[in-house]
Amino acid sequence: MRKQVEILKVPIDDVSNVEAMERLKIFLEEPNLKKVYTPNPEIVMLAQDDTELLRIIQEADLVLADGIGLLIASKIKGLGLKERVTGIDTMEQLLIYSAEKGKSIYLLGGKPGVAEIACKNIEEKYKGIKIAGFYHGYFQDKDEKEIIDNINRSKPDILFIALGAPKQEKWIDKYKNILECRLAMGVGGGVDIYAGTAKRAPLIFQKLGLEWFYRLIKEPWRIKRMMNLPKFLIKIILTK
Ligand code: UDP
Repeated sequence: MRKQVEILKVPIDDVSNVEAMERLKIFLEEPNLKKVYTPNPEIVMLAQDDTELLRIIQEADLVLADGIGLLIASKIKGLGLKERVTGIDTMEQLLIYSAEKGKSIYLLGGKPGVAEIACKNIEEKYKGIKIAGFYHGYFQDKDEKEIIDNINRSKPDILFIALGAPKQEKWIDKYKNILECRLAMGVGGGVDIYAGTAKRAPLIFQKLGLEWFYRLIKEPWRIKRMMNLPKFLIKIILTK
């Protein structure tokens, strides 16, 4: 049975990393498209004013708690979220599983050339995985038909979309009825991690739930977006 908790109206699935993978493996055997999103406090805050984004997350098949802020909110409110399930860890598990089972992936997003390098690295590291295709994320509206045709010709099991949030969630929603794949998942900067153009925070930062802090040091211009985190926590404390 699906158990979700609501954090400022945004439903989050109460699953562990292992349970999330169990759910995803089932999705990969079912014919209709499943939509997976990994919101963090920033996205939850965006969804407060963006009703389209809120609806999109409400309609998802799996919503993972990506961000220590959501766990803190869950503790404050006594909602009992099991653990943090990050998009990047889930992507990694899906790649491992795809390699084992010979599943195919398509990677959409990132600066021109980045998705191609990421796919090469993924193919090298996860032997047995099938690369269905890739496309950069700086396309124009007029290119979208070509992208959809490209995806649908190769019929990937998994479509990873790295256009940043909330663009990737809105893109999946726009095309959910015509995309021919089993799983569509927004992975933000995942394409950059696999291409090697960005690095994950060192393990110690990950363990302490301080990846956001590492990111702030590396990309100080994100400060404006990150100010949403304290605003988020204040809102959590102030709302009943
Ligand atoms: N990106 C893209 N097209 C766009 C905007 C962004 O492909 O129009 C890519 C960008 O190159 C990066 C990823 O989307 O690889 C966004 O990464 P970020 O870590 O900023 O994701 P977020 O934190 O917004 O989810």
